[in-house]
Amino acid sequence: EDSAKVIDGKSVAKEIREEIAAEILRMKESIGVVPGLAVILVGDRKDSATYVRNKKKSCEAVGINSYEVRLPEDSSEQEVLKYISGFNNDTSVHGILVQLPLPSHMNEQNVLNAVCIEKDVDGFHPLNIGRLTMRDREPLFVPCTPKGCIELLHRYGVDIKGKMAVVVGRSNIVGMPAALLLQREDATVSVVHSRTKNPEEITREADNIISAVGQPNMVRGSRIKHGSVVIDVGINPVEDANSPRGYRLVGDVCYEEASKIASAITPVPGGVGPMTIAMLLSNTLISAKRVYNFK
Ligand code: NDP
Repeated sequence: EDSAKVIDGKSVAKEIREEIAAEILRMKESIGVVPGLAVILVGDRKDSATYVRNKKKSCEAVGINSYEVRLPEDSSEQEVLKYISGFNNDTSVHGILVQLPLPSHMNEQNVLNAVCIEKDVDGFHPLNIGRLTMRDREPLFVPCTPKGCIELLHRYGVDIKGKMAVVVGRSNIVGMPAALLLQREDATVSVVHSRTKNPEEITREADNIISAVGQPNMVRGSRIKHGSVVIDVGINPVEDANSPRGYRLVGDVCYEEASKIASAITPVPGGVGPMTIAMLLSNTLISAKRVYNFK
C-alpha cells in the first residue's frame, strides 16, 4: 500500500528559524542593530492571545526585539491607529502586526491601511497585495501563511512551474494570496470556493493542492489525484474524548485517505502552522535588512 511522504513543516520551520537567528547575529555583530517587531492585540480572544504569545516567544528565540501592545476589547479605532502611527515612526520597529480578527466595532480596512507598507510584515496592505497580483511588480512583503506553503513546496523539491495547482478557499489572508503566489511560480491555477460547482472534479486535476477552508475532513481521498502534493492549511478543532482537552486539531484534508493517494502531504498539526510564524520572522528580518541596506 502506498504511503505519501510526510512534509515536515515543524522541522523545516526549525531549520528556517536557525537560518534567521544566524543572520540576525551577523547583523548585530556587523552593524550593531537587530530587527524589531511590534504586535498589537485588541480584546481578549483566547486563540489570538495564544498566537501573540507564540509570536513573541519565537521573536525572542531568534534575536528579534518584540514590542507588544494589548488593548481592551472596547478600545476605540482611534486608539489602535494612534499606536500604529507611533510604531510607523519608531525606527527600532521594522514590522507591525495587528492581530486579527479585530473587535466588530472596528473597521479592519482602516486599521490595516494605516500600517506603512515598509513595515507591513503580514503583507495585508492593499498596495502589497496589489503588487503581488501584477506582473513585474514586487510586493515588499508576502503574506506569511501562503509564503510558508510555497516555501514547503520549494524545500521538498516539488515542481510548480507548468503544473496544475488548485487552491481551495479564497480568503484575503490565505487562499487568494496562495493562488497569486502559485501563479507567479508559473503554475496554472484554479480556485475552488463555496459556490464552485463540482469542486471534486477540479481538485482531481491538481498536481499540487493547497486547502484553506476551515472544515474538517472536507477534502476526501476521492477528491485528489494519484501522486499529487497536498498542503493542508486548515486548523480545525474536532471533539475527541480521548484527548485531555476534549478536542484535537485536524486539517481540511482527510489525512488517512489522502496519505494513501498523494505522493506528499502536510500533517496537521506540524505542517503549515509552524511555517507561518517562521515566515513572520523572515519578513521582519527582510524588513530590517532593507532599512539598513544590510546584505
Ligand atoms: P476563511 O473562513 O476566511 O475562508 C474560508 C474559505 O473557504 C472561503 O473562501 C470559503 O469560500 C471557502 N469555503 C468554505 N466552505 C467551502 C466548501 N465547502 N468548499 C470550498 N470552499 C469552501 O478562512 P481562512 O482562509 O482564514 O482560514 C482557513 C483555514 O485555515 C482555517 O481552518 C484556519 O484556522 C486555517 N488557518 C491556518 C493558518 C496557519 O497558520 N496554518 C493561518 C490562517 C488560517 P467563500 O469565499 O465562497 O465563502
